[in-house]
Amino acid sequence: MVGKKRVGVLALQGDFAKHAESLERAGAEAVEVRTREALEGVDALVVPGGESTTMLKLIGYEDLWEPLRAFGQKKPIFGTCAGAILLAKHVLNPTQVSLDLVDLDVERNAYGRQLDSHIAQLELEGSPLEAVFIRAPIIRRVGAGAQVLATHNGDPVLVTEGKHMVATFHPELTCDPRVHEIFLRRV
Ligand code: GLN
Repeated sequence: MVGKKRVGVLALQGDFAKHAESLERAGAEAVEVRTREALEGVDALVVPGGESTTMLKLIGYEDLWEPLRAFGQKKPIFGTCAGAILLAKHVLNPTQVSLDLVDLDVERNAYGRQLDSHIAQLELEGSPLEAVFIRAPIIRRVGAGAQVLATHNGDPVLVTEGKHMVATFHPELTCDPRVHEIFLRRV
């Protein structure tokens, strides 16, 4: 029998525990990652939602910039919400640094105050998908190599590019395992 895929969840801040549960439900072994050593032991990584500016600081304190960049050159990363912001090439509103691993431009907090947080019905591979958006960014540009798997109001909200995947919503907050399953197929 082939062993389970070991998938790390960056556990510095944000919604990492729920992602670990979702990954286990989708059939993987989830590992909380806080150090370079832990990163070396996993086949793929999820960067969760939370607050991207706080995560940037913590990545600096833990000296994880280079390890994360190097990891992303070789292995798949799935960034959700703040995680998507950390992976994007360019970040707007305001501009901030990123890991620059996925050729996307994202605008932070782009739904404005009224719609800061909402639940939307999307379509994924021909079936309905419920998606929770919490102070979500909007993807303003996707690179030529990107594949858009789901949209909301015409904007891409679930995108793959090369090895990596990003979602601007929170697939770990619904019971539907399909988004994590799609990521695991890429690992
Ligand atoms: N608004 C947050 C940010 O800009 C992201 C919110 C989230 O991850 N749910 O970092």
